Amino acid sequence: MSDGSDILVLDNLHVRFPIQRGLLDTMRGRAPGAVRAVDGVDLTVRRGEIVALVGESGSGKTTVGRVIAKLMQPTGGRLLFDGADMTSLRSFAALRPYRHRVQMIFQDAYQALNPRHTIFDIVAEPLRAMRMVKTEAQLTERVREALSAAGLNPPEDFFARFPNELSGGQRQRVVTAGALVVKPDLIVADEPVSMLDVSIRAQILQALLDLRNQQSLALLFITHDLPLAWLIADRIAVMYLGRIVEIGTADDITLNPQHPYTVALRNATPQVRGGQQGGGMQVLQGEVPSAARVPTGCRFHPRCPLAFDQCRMEEPPAIDVGPQHHSACWLAK
Ligand code: SF4
Repeated sequence: MSDGSDILVLDNLHVRFPIQRGLLDTMRGRAPGAVRAVDGVDLTVRRGEIVALVGESGSGKTTVGRVIAKLMQPTGGRLLFDGADMTSLRSFAALRPYRHRVQMIFQDAYQALNPRHTIFDIVAEPLRAMRMVKTEAQLTERVREALSAAGLNPPEDFFARFPNELSGGQRQRVVTAGALVVKPDLIVADEPVSMLDVSIRAQILQALLDLRNQQSLALLFITHDLPLAWLIADRIAVMYLGRIVEIGTADDITLNPQHPYTVALRNATPQVRGGQQGGGMQVLQGEVPSAARVPTGCRFHPRCPLAFDQCRMEEPPAIDVGPQHHSACWLAK
């Protein structure tokens, strides 16, 4: 469980991708544009805490994860880990201690595993690359521990197997074991169960919850699935067009959402109601907006004509709507 101290702090994080100008733009003297993938994100993750980052495709949640895993440099803001500023660290040597402590689990276990390597070699690879063990006996023991923690038991049965001999759930557990083997303080899990069957999802989620409870592991869980986030997370941050528009406890965000986008996300979730197919489900209205065009407010502005003008002039700040609950909407109570 969380001890209350921050392990990760994102301070006004920005990631922008320049858009190449065409000949016509150059002739007309148009300034080069940029896609605002991440646009001023402030977020903390405490030790032993599970924070879910929820949003639809293109909201910038995966980009945030990639910045934290140091697979991408931010164009602005700061990334603090355990109190130290990691923003500008780039070299392999400088990043080595950070990579010991922060791991990423990717969505696609099929792509993440080298089909020519045995499960033992796949899980042992980060220990070898970072020279974290001195003897073969230590290496074997760490791989055995990681496979067992990820729910692959008995672990020795998997040592000599290849990825194509495993089910989808077992592959995802191998990916999880590969992240756990370095004993990290923080795992960034990007849609770790979205490609799995529902029954296998529950097993992987339970394995992650057990690890949090046993090892005080902090987890940033990236997903598009609000009910799933509610099941696993302590807090939920909702992203929309590169910004966090609402953040609060998992119960507050799911049961008492205040931002219109969070409400729409919740209402778009299929529910079994009254024995009718699709009962209670509402389809998100409007076009998916482009982060290349400077967005003005959220896509639900036709429902708030009074506040929308205010939104066009100034982005709403995070307004307190309850204890630990903030909503970036001028209509927030
Ligand atoms: Fe969306 Fe802004 Fe209107 Fe709130 S005030 S519903 S954020 S456009």
